[in-house]
Amino acid sequence: MGDLTRPRGMEAARLRQGKYARLRTLRVPEEALPGSLSLSYRRCGRGNCRCAEGEGHALWQLTFMAGGKKRVESVPAEWVEEVRRRVEEGRAFKEAWSEVLTANAELLVLRKKQRREKAGKEKSKRATE
Ligand SMILES: [Zn+2]
Repeated sequence: MGDLTRPRGMEAARLRQGKYARLRTLRVPEEALPGSLSLSYRRCGRGNCRCAEGEGHALWQLTFMAGGKKRVESVPAEWVEEVRRRVEEGRAFKEAWSEVLTANAELLVLRKKQRREKAGKEKSKRATE
């Protein structure tokens, strides 16, 4: 495990530095929400309602994936600000965590490259002996 995660050199140091800087500021937002919040306008269909002529009633919806399926849930207007904030927390967390995973993948690739170079050197060393 240790050997696999610890490639050497400047690039590895830079990747690790970026990764740990990210991890230090990363906090799991426990109330974060997935997906996205959207606003549309709907007519309720009642002939005597003001929406019959206007732009319709504001309808806020949270769209998210659950168990591989897309779900859409309406959000009460008075919850919109809070839901928006929690969706943003979720998005920012995913982005930051994804950067950590990418750094780990780059470190793995670097380690593989170094292993190849080391093997190449030992081969040529053996050839000259
Ligand atoms: Zn209406």
